[in-house]
This record gives sequence, structure tokens and C-alpha cells, in this order.
Amino acid sequence: MNNETLVARGKAVLTPNYRQAPVALVRGEGSRVWDADGREYLDCICGIAVNALGHCHPAVVAALEAQARELWHVSNLFFNPRAVELAEALVEGSLFARRVFFCNSGAEANEAMLKLARKYQADLGHPERNEIVACLSSFHGRTMFALSCTGQEKYHHGFEPLVPGVRHVPYGDVEALRGALGPRTAAFIVEPIQGEAGVMPAPEGYLARARALTREAGALLCFDEVQTGVGRTGRMWAHEWDGVAPDLMSSAKAIANGFPMGALLASEEVGAHLTPGSHASTFGGNALGCAAALAVLKVLRGGALEASRAVSARLVERLEALRATGRVKGVRGRGMLQGVLLQGVSAGAVVELARAQGLLVNAIGDSVIRFAPALTLTAAEADLAAERLGAALRAAPAKE
Ligand SMILES: *Cc1c(COP(=O)(O)O)cnc(C)c1O
Repeated sequence: MNNETLVARGKAVLTPNYRQAPVALVRGEGSRVWDADGREYLDCICGIAVNALGHCHPAVVAALEAQARELWHVSNLFFNPRAVELAEALVEGSLFARRVFFCNSGAEANEAMLKLARKYQADLGHPERNEIVACLSSFHGRTMFALSCTGQEKYHHGFEPLVPGVRHVPYGDVEALRGALGPRTAAFIVEPIQGEAGVMPAPEGYLARARALTREAGALLCFDEVQTGVGRTGRMWAHEWDGVAPDLMSSAKAIANGFPMGALLASEEVGAHLTPGSHASTFGGNALGCAAALAVLKVLRGGALEASRAVSARLVERLEALRATGRVKGVRGRGMLQGVLLQGVSAGAVVELARAQGLLVNAIGDSVIRFAPALTLTAAEADLAAERLGAALRAAPAKE
């Protein structure tokens, strides 16, 4: 089976909702993956910020294998030791979290977060406090409540009516946020860095102002760290850079290095309102996912997170140097989440040319290339990635 036959079979049977490259990936190891034709790539997108320890990290493989022989799933009718251990590990050192709810994806974690925000306010005797303030150009997932908060109309088309009670404000605009918060606001949901908007970091001080304003207004502060969490930015959670504690935070993507998992982290006060029967997930907290996630946290805390900072600094330096091609306007992001801003060339074309050079990255819109490599990327791999992107940029046709 080669790329061509797999792609043809896939196109005939899978729903056409993805714009997929004509490549089938069959194997991975660290930051390298191989396609069905035997071609090797340096993977700097890692399943969209998912494989934080690269592909098939031995510690995660060992944890999954051992767990697969012991116990997979028991439902939440019972406790299982891995879920308890993982919840303990997640709240350890957290600026705010004392309670954890497990689910299976980022959208589900946000769905739980938004539902809990409303329930918290209703339980306090304020059912009229049911509005959610969210940001324009945000991305929170594809389930209806998460989609309704997602501030990009292109994702809404055809799916209306949306969940009522959501209003959007420009990202980073403190005055707009102040104006939107009021006696009907349940919560403000925000990403510390808007990933799908083209790797857009919050302006300095924005999260702290959001904390103060939501508190004054009696609204909850919800951070969507689905993309920025689990070491992606060089700290375990991106909000740690600002020292700003939310009331609720969603996590998913990298949490189990590719095993599907999501988590909602909550303060004691708010988390207590997810009372028996109010919310649930059949697969949530299943032992396989929790075992994988425990292995991820152990490796990150065992030095991988710290090591990633030096390599990300080097990667940024090398990407910045590509300004010399005349086709890079700048680089923005934090840690191992970086957006390369292009000028005069189309991001889609550059991504294809990069793939031909043996580099996997993705385009956000027509002018940003996203790098979300493994946190375990080596300095030599960072250099190679920049070299390959440079070759792609030089080969790209000028955009008219
Ligand atoms: C990817 C992402 C989501 C959605 O996660 P899924 O696992 O695809 O449901 C939500 N929020 C942010 C910030 C994301 O990057």
C-alpha cells in the first residue's frame, strides 16, 4: 500500500470535511514520521500540538502497554487508580485547580467548562447570569456550545441556530471586555494564545485585567488551554507566565500525547458544583488514557519541559533569520508554539513545498505557518527545520 492507493481509498470512503495532504503516514519515532512510500519527514506540527513528546515516546508506550494488560475501562461507576493519580498530578502545583473532570477531547472539555459556568451561577441563585463572553477569532471546538463561543463565523455556517447567550469581543481589548461584562455574564472564555487565529499571543497584561474585571463583575474566568497547555509554551500551563489564576481551565491535545483525552480543571469552589448526575462522560478518565497522561507528566516534569525552552529559543532564532529571504515578516508565539508570518507568498504553497523538502508544518489562513513541534525536538532538528522552511520559502512563487 502506497500513498496513492491509500489516498484514493480514503477519499472514496471518508467524509470530505478535511483538506488532507495526499500523504498517508504509517510510522513515527520522536520528531520523525514516515509515509506509505517510505519517505521520511521532520514533523514540526505533531498532530496539531498533540505529540508533545514526539511519536511513540518509549515511556508513554511502556505505560500504555502495561495498562493495556491490566485494565482498560471500568466507567465512572467505580474509581480507578490511574484517574485518581492523574487528577492528583494535574492539580499538583496548579495556581488554582483542586478538582478535575475527565473527558475525551478539547471540545468536550470546553463544553463541560461552559456548562459548569452556567450551573455555578444558577446554583448561586442567578439563573439569569447565563451569558458567555468570548473572543473574536477564537477557537473552542466543534460541539454546539463550544462552536457558539468560537469567534469565527466561517465555522458557524449551516449550523445555526447557535447556542443563545454568547457575545464576542475583540481579543486583547480590555475596554471592550469591560463593556461586555455585566450582571448577566456567567463567564469569560479566552485562550492565553489564540492558536487557530494564527498563533496570536494575548497582549501583555490582558489576562490579568480579565481576571480583575471578571471578578468585579461576578463572572467566572475560563482559560482554554487545549492548545497552549501541557508544556507547549515552555511552562506546564501558559497562564503561569502571567501568574493569573482562572476559575476553570480546559486541557486536551497534548495531555496524553495522542491518546484521546480531555480534562477540565476547576477551583474547589466552582468544581464542587459539578454535582452527582449533572454531567458525565462514559469514556472519561479511562485507565488507558490516564496511564498515558501520567507518563507524559512524568517525562515533562523530569526535565523535558525545561529542556524544551532552550531548543524553542534556538528554533525562534533560526526562524527569525529567515527574514533574510524577504518572505518572513516576523515570528510570534511562545515556547514550542510559533507562527511564522509570511509576506508575498501563500502559506498553503509554502506548506506543500516544505513537505517536499521533508518538513511537516501547517498553514493558518494564507499568511501564517504554524510550528508546534515535539517538546523533545533537538537543537539539530530545530536547525534542520528552519533550513527546510528556508528552502521552501525560496522556492515559493510570488503571490500576485
Ligand atoms: C484544538 C482546540 C480545541 C478543540 O479540541 P478538539 O479535541 O478538536 O475537540 C479547542 N480549543 C482550542 C484552543 C484548540 O486548539
